[in-house]
Amino acid sequence: MIAKVFLVGAGPGDPELLTLAAVRALRAADVVLVDDLVNRAVLEHTRPGTRVIAVGKRGGSRSTPQAFIERLMLQEARAGHTVVRLKGGDPFLFGRGGEESAHLRAAGVEVTVIPGITSGLAAPLVAGISVTHREASPGVIFVTGHEKDGAGERIDWEALAASGLTLVIYMGVAKAGRIQERLLAAGLSGATPVAAVASATLAEQRIATGTLQAMAQMIQRAGIVSPAILVIGEVARAAVEQLAATARSAAA
Ligand code: SAH
Repeated sequence: MIAKVFLVGAGPGDPELLTLAAVRALRAADVVLVDDLVNRAVLEHTRPGTRVIAVGKRGGSRSTPQAFIERLMLQEARAGHTVVRLKGGDPFLFGRGGEESAHLRAAGVEVTVIPGITSGLAAPLVAGISVTHREASPGVIFVTGHEKDGAGERIDWEALAASGLTLVIYMGVAKAGRIQERLLAAGLSGATPVAAVASATLAEQRIATGTLQAMAQMIQRAGIVSPAILVIGEVARAAVEQLAATARSAAA
């Protein structure tokens, strides 16, 4: 029997944003390994009797070691079970899907990767931001705000500041103060518009806007907590306008 694992992106939160391929994989699954960030509502697509195993590992909290997850997938696949590894957003974008698929393939397991809508695209969108608005930015950079501990600083903040491109920062809430400091020191204007979008596409979605100069303060005041995406750049001005329009229509 061929051992088979599906590495599946569950999208940013709203179960409507699953792909048809993801739904099909969930229907075929004997066992689903699910990350913390995945909305449990998507599990309605599994068959009765499908085993669901939570393998969360949010920064700072109780976590399942990566080696254990990989061993478990291998064991289940070798037992002839159809395994779905469900990850938030896209499985390869800051999701360690690349490592997992390499590990499984090296062990002779057939891996199918199903892309998902990443939060770095969905979050700006729900805030009214076009990350590549033709007049404001010729491109976008996805970057982590939380580098691997001890790996040394690999992000060239000077280059990011000078790029003139929209910055979409994942895992940036806890380090917002440091990111702000680095970008300002690198010469990015304090007046650069910023938006923070927490729990994008979910009922508890929250959006805050401001400028780079006061980004950390804005995040704290608005009660923005992880998971959140930070959007830094001229394009974020649109979020300011969308929030103002929402406030006007709420008041009317
Ligand atoms: N693979 C995921 C990212 C995993 S890293 C993806 O493609 O979206 C985890 C980070 O993703 C969080 O710290 C946060 O920055 C972001 N994130 C995930 N879901 C989010 C959501 N619904 N709203 C805002 N940010 C989210």
